[in-house]
Amino acid sequence: MKGTLAMHRSPRCTATSKRTRLACQAPAVTGWTVCRFHGAGGGGPKGKRNGAYRHGLNTAEAMAGRRALAALLRRIREGDKVNEAWGGKSTETRLGGRNGGRKVMKKKIVNNIK
Ligand SMILES: [Zn+2]
Repeated sequence: MKGTLAMHRSPRCTATSKRTRLACQAPAVTGWTVCRFHGAGGGGPKGKRNGAYRHGLNTAEAMAGRRALAALLRRIREGDKVNEAWGGKSTETRLGGRNGGRKVMKKKIVNNIK
């Protein structure tokens, strides 16, 4: 009977076969989502242990830092888009300008000269 042994119930490879276009179905390597044929355990050593390491500009850590900074800058720029939605007015104008949204009382000109 199929699927009764522990080895048959083990997690399967998530890769798709290039030949059949179907799911691989081979058992996934422990700690991986793919089988030994589909890249499990692959890849070079990280950081300075990798032979292509030069100065650390392109390490996963450095790239994650740059991504975080770019996302932060994007959020700041999105803030400008909020201003544009309000007719390109500055935050000060939007919130009432110099008068803070209060109605300004006009001085009554009294002509006392007769
Ligand atoms: Zn596979």
